[in-house]
Amino acid sequence: TKTLRPLIAGNWKMNGLRKDLDEIAAIRDGGVKVGGAVEIVVCPPFTLLAAAASLCEGSGIGIGGQDCHPEKKGAFTGDIAPPMLKDCGATYVILGHSERRLIHGESDALIRDKIKGVQAAGLAAILCVGETAEQRSTGQALAVVGEQLAGSIPRDVSIEGLVIAYEPVWAIGTGLTPTAEDIAEMHGFIRAKLEESWPGKAATVRLLYGGSVKPSNAAKLLAIANVDGALIGGASLIAADFLAIAAAC
Ligand code: PEP
Repeated sequence: TKTLRPLIAGNWKMNGLRKDLDEIAAIRDGGVKVGGAVEIVVCPPFTLLAAAASLCEGSGIGIGGQDCHPEKKGAFTGDIAPPMLKDCGATYVILGHSERRLIHGESDALIRDKIKGVQAAGLAAILCVGETAEQRSTGQALAVVGEQLAGSIPRDVSIEGLVIAYEPVWAIGTGLTPTAEDIAEMHGFIRAKLEESWPGKAATVRLLYGGSVKPSNAAKLLAIANVDGALIGGASLIAADFLAIAAAC
């Protein structure tokens, strides 16, 4: 039995022009029908954040950023600060996505500082963790994720409101997904690790699965123990698919 309100978050990555705001309006209209049982959040590129937030204002559909800088403001050309996301109407921020870790070389220490900045601004972080194919095939998946959790969650913050997304790197955009047993093992492991450091609080943290979630596999993935929602890449760009996933909760 699941006790937490599921969260379905869409990561648009570097996709979306102003004409695609129609898709966000469609997500809003369909999401309102799915109702309050599921929390729906869309994370468009920075350029569409303010417009998406005003489209979704008052609808219950949330808006998030895909990354941010740890600091509040300053001489950081090209970066976006957490208070700027908040000012645009965002309530969530994805942090530590594997594309940030691998392409931009983000470390756990940097992600930890970003979480601090995000919490200070009153936003909720969606922290992504996950192993590569090689790490899984050599039996290191749990150790890698354990290290990411230990390194990227600040000790001195409350984990209430934090969301963690388990996204195996090899499952992102590939059509591949882990077995239900492997997802259950990893999500149970993440819950247990959080409980070690924040006794009594881990049960309140939503653990999302991400990686090739589609309407056709969503119900099965969302039914797995300790899966409290999903982070959706490709399928979140199409309102009908994203809404079908939300409806599968
Ligand atoms: C992602 O990158 O967060 C993701 C889950 O991508 P996809 O759904 O396209 O595999």
